[in-house]
Amino acid sequence: MFDSVINFIQSAFDTDDFIPLHEPCFAGREQDYLKDCIDSTFVSSVGQYVDRFEEELAAYTGEKFAIATVNGTSALHTALVLAGVSAGDEVITQSLTFIATANAISYCGATPVFVDVDRDTMGLSPDALRAFLEKHAVREGNICRNKTTGKIIRSVVPMHTFGHPARIDEIVEVCNQYGIPVVEDAAESLGSCYKEQHAGTFGKMGVLSFNGNKTITCGGGGAIIINDEALAKRAKHITTTAKVSHRWEYVHDCIGFNYRMPNLNAALACAQLEQLDSIVENKRVLAGEYEAFFRDQEIDFVTEPKEARSNFWLNAVILKDRDQRNTFLEETNDSGVMTRPVWQLLHRLDMFKGAFCGDLTESEWLEDRVVNIPSSVRL
Ligand SMILES: *Cc1c(COP(=O)(O)O)cnc(C)c1O
Repeated sequence: MFDSVINFIQSAFDTDDFIPLHEPCFAGREQDYLKDCIDSTFVSSVGQYVDRFEEELAAYTGEKFAIATVNGTSALHTALVLAGVSAGDEVITQSLTFIATANAISYCGATPVFVDVDRDTMGLSPDALRAFLEKHAVREGNICRNKTTGKIIRSVVPMHTFGHPARIDEIVEVCNQYGIPVVEDAAESLGSCYKEQHAGTFGKMGVLSFNGNKTITCGGGGAIIINDEALAKRAKHITTTAKVSHRWEYVHDCIGFNYRMPNLNAALACAQLEQLDSIVENKRVLAGEYEAFFRDQEIDFVTEPKEARSNFWLNAVILKDRDQRNTFLEETNDSGVMTRPVWQLLHRLDMFKGAFCGDLTESEWLEDRVVNIPSSVRL
């Protein structure tokens, strides 16, 4: 049934061998920087590559500060702590996201509250968020309470699904009305812009990931991007064991985390960041080819939202229903073309079964139909 799709993908990647969903691309100065880093012996918690990466990443996104961490999940955890999220709080996010978003909320002792996404962006819907808050939230000075559960809604975490920006300016506007800080889970959207502004720079903080399957990778890594200087200093402090600077004494002024990115990873990250624009360009060409092909096949291909420029981290198609989705997954994977369904909605997982949810019609519709298709850079 999907032979033409399989043939097209094999010709697009110019191979009959196995085609992975997303492979990293090391075509720059990775080896030079890694060798230099090893030669310096500073492979771990201090070294020039971390500072350099943080500066270059901030400059790239247009934020004032970037703090590099061991992975995206730790960056999210840190950002939520800085947003004031603590035990007993609620944090609003989408059910259609990778588990890390909800895990980080749980690490704070808080509970995720799931609100719907928009069908076209697959990111948190500002309309669904507004409807949810109108029904359940009451502002009390600087805090916002869920009057149905009695808990404080401490943060909202929208996620830019597969690199496609959500309607983030509207989300921030709604949150401002209720006094709720926004932490953007931009783990998938480095290099994507909305209204010519980088994803991750609209909220109070943005979080990025450099895991092996992301647009650029440093093995494992993450970052928090922040405009506020005091908050950025705090982020650096608590991700580096909260050590107070002293020539020899070990003084730590609060419970911090060992979340800093090792210099070895930062060396790789510097080399990858240099290629980010060309990688995104390469991925956009592939997305354009997919779009033209699927238009002829009468299969819906996920294109970039209005006023957005996406990095097309993972390309996706929308099948007619769950049965057709299953057939597509079976036929492509049987032929060595790796495809994967969108995540199972988080409110269905055992840990979040009792979670407080808004209406999730669009999330459920997408869950039945969305499949990711091979999206690696082609050299
Ligand atoms: C990749 C990802 C993260 C963070 O992942 P790490 O593997 O911890 O770097 C967080 N949220 C989303 C939506 C992601 O896709």
